Amino acid sequence: MQDEDKTPAPFPARIARMLSRWSGQRLTFSRRNTGEGEVLQHQPPAAGELDAAQGVYIEPPKALPILATCEVLVVGAGPAGLSAALAARRAGADVILLERFGCFGGAITTVGMETLAWYRYEGTIESEGIGVEMERRAAAMGGTVKWPYNDSECLDADFFKVVADHLVRESGIRPILHCMAVDVIFEEGTNRLKGLITESKSGRQVVLAQRIIDCTGDADIAHLAGASYRKTPKDKMLGMTTVFNASGVDKQRFLDYTEARPATYADWSRTWQQQTTGKEEALRSPYLDKEFDEARALGVIPQDSTNLGGSWSSLTEAGEANNLNLVHMYGFDPTDVMDLTRAEMQGRSEALQALMALKAVVPGFEKAKLRNFSMTIGVRDSRKIIGRHNLTGDEVRNQAKFADSIGIFPEFIDGYAVLILPSTGRYFEVPYGCMVPLEVDNLLVAGRCVAGDMVSHAAMRNMMACTVTGQGAGVAAAVSIRQNQSTADVDLVDVQAELEKQGVRLH
Ligand SMILES: Cc1cc2nc3c(=O)[nH]c(=O)nc-3n(C[C@H](O)[C@H](O)[C@H](O)COP(=O)(O)OP(=O)(O)OC[C@H]3O[C@@H](n4cnc5c(N)ncnc54)[C@H](O)[C@@H]3O)c2cc1C
Repeated sequence: MQDEDKTPAPFPARIARMLSRWSGQRLTFSRRNTGEGEVLQHQPPAAGELDAAQGVYIEPPKALPILATCEVLVVGAGPAGLSAALAARRAGADVILLERFGCFGGAITTVGMETLAWYRYEGTIESEGIGVEMERRAAAMGGTVKWPYNDSECLDADFFKVVADHLVRESGIRPILHCMAVDVIFEEGTNRLKGLITESKSGRQVVLAQRIIDCTGDADIAHLAGASYRKTPKDKMLGMTTVFNASGVDKQRFLDYTEARPATYADWSRTWQQQTTGKEEALRSPYLDKEFDEARALGVIPQDSTNLGGSWSSLTEAGEANNLNLVHMYGFDPTDVMDLTRAEMQGRSEALQALMALKAVVPGFEKAKLRNFSMTIGVRDSRKIIGRHNLTGDEVRNQAKFADSIGIFPEFIDGYAVLILPSTGRYFEVPYGCMVPLEVDNLLVAGRCVAGDMVSHAAMRNMMACTVTGQGAGVAAAVSIRQNQSTADVDLVDVQAELEKQGVRLH
């Protein structure tokens, strides 16, 4: 073992260290090296001001280190964020993809939602672009299982972490994981964003960017930047779900049961009183609902356990039933940390009830065990920006066309008591305007938080639609830099030309 180094630092070095501590440039510094690693000490903050009457604490000003600088900063790496980062990179921009968790994929990998395109019954006209490419890539890498009742694929949610790693690495996107965006930075005296403040194990830092794309699902960045948005009232919000996976399932016995008691989309109405166009009613659906009534009648689960019922998804030869989407919880606001806390705990408890019910009444599940819960609760609904164009249910249901189209999405609506499957080949165009916030420039918003009413949200929240807005926003951000125009003023002719070059169908 080496002796502790007690040699005092030379005077100028001590002054420099004090100055850097004072200016906050170097918040952690080394005092001495013992040979077992440096002894480190963080410079704690000065005292702020506690205003108990207002219920606030006023932080003292602090210098934050600049973590990175880029052209396009994409925040959130779900289906929208991954697509935005890939598209901006392919359009020639230097891109950072910043994500609060340790993997890319968003709801796919962190909630375990594997069905990117389960709506794809015969007759569907599909969006073309990065979403379909991601599905094909996952399949080519051996990371999918066929969905039970049509040709779409179930993504293996854990494997998709590796698929996304490949996509990020080979494209030259600069990744930052385990890092949450917590505030915004404006160009002085303007409404144009120029960066973000982040928090991570490295502390509070700054990422500077010429354009920012908010793909947080909850429109966190738009909210922090003061853009206007709507949030569905709690009592009308789509439910939150703790997805879980089970092992020890006898796959064939379960499949025989589902053939003997086939479920269709008509069964969904028992839970959701939904409106369809009629054609949906007879289509097969991987759905469990009556089974929970039977379990209640047997006294296996409480009589008041009314939140149970929903879909099953991929079954593996190893006896796993994945993506069990059976718990629906209402009355929680996903942008409220205490609601999230309560929902996570309630969700785990209800998921266990669901499993107990399956074990008691569903053939094939008798020996099933909990394999794992989703690593975070699944959120369907929160903030939606007020955009230059607010998409409406009528537009989605009437094959709307837009001069500023950045892609198409089939007429697939799932939510707020409406279920429409796109087996007629009908589709609508997605306008650039639904990603453009009114009050903040050089910010685009993609994914489930784009501008629109409830019924349009029930279409745009679907993962494939999120890849359409993601790709559109990524290309627009990159092209706007090339044109030296802000995202509000970008010339859409060039944006549409670049999207077509990337294989996107616009009309
Ligand atoms: C239970 C459930 C079942 C669903 N079933 C389906 C289905 O079968 N098919 C379908 O197509 N859709 C389904 N959906 C909807 C779909 O999963 C989501 O609407 C979609 O994933 C939204 O994509 P996104 O990219 O906008 O956001 P997300 O997938 O939510 O990704 C957002 C990402 O941003 C990150 N993030 C958030 N805030 C910050 C921040 N401040 N800083 C840094 N990172 C941040 C998050 O960690 C996350 O990775 C389901 C949703 C749920 C919850």
